[in-house]
Amino acid sequence: CGIVGYIGNKEAKPILLEGLRKLEYRGYDSAGIALANADGVHVYKEKGRIAALADRIDQETFATMGIGHTRWATHGKPNRENAHPHQSASGRFSLVHNGVIDNYEALRNEYLANVTLISETDTEVIVQMIEQFVYDGMMVEEALRRTLSLVHGSYAIALIDSKDAETIYVGKNKSPLLVGQGDGFNVVASDALAMLQVTNQFFEIMDEEIVVVKKESITIKNLQGDVQVRAPFTAELDASDIEKGTYP
Ligand code: GLU
Repeated sequence: CGIVGYIGNKEAKPILLEGLRKLEYRGYDSAGIALANADGVHVYKEKGRIAALADRIDQETFATMGIGHTRWATHGKPNRENAHPHQSASGRFSLVHNGVIDNYEALRNEYLANVTLISETDTEVIVQMIEQFVYDGMMVEEALRRTLSLVHGSYAIALIDSKDAETIYVGKNKSPLLVGQGDGFNVVASDALAMLQVTNQFFEIMDEEIVVVKKESITIKNLQGDVQVRAPFTAELDASDIEKGTYP
């Protein structure tokens, strides 16, 4: 039900957990995060409260990039397997998703006949398809654009690649998603509220756009791969709104 992401020079974990707490007002049944560093990607997820997730995270895992999710289950019961992030069969890709993929069964039958799905979610087809397209020879960004052009439904997604700790890929259609800009870091959030702790500069993302987010750059493209030029806006919320949780 909420998404966060951070890539920069600071430790990602406390920023992601704080962002998820700021999204608690939306409601959720489980939560998870993926942290990426030179050792690869470390995924932690838990049914129930964010506090339970925080307790589960290995304190030794230090990472300066990661993605997080609070889930409101639509397909598959609330449990750890169905919690996000979901991973591709090889473990290379990790993905969080808000929304509903209407044609996930058709996509699974057409593109994933040889893949054993781990969860009961509609979400998992996205990350598995991206991996299949990469196996077929596509670059990751191209595989993401191709997958999203085949998906029908609503999504705000964030994807990370364990072979590339310098990029968070984002996509959006009919679910809220913003990309925030900082000095030496960038963030992703369903709601500016989640990341006002670190920046108030945000880019609006339109439906059927993807974003390639790196520490020092934000590149917005449409699903055909054309760059979209846009200025950020300043999110102006006062602290009392944040405390009361009355935004939006
Ligand atoms: N449809 C997905 C699921 O059931 C995402 C739900 C959400 O938006 O939290 O896991």
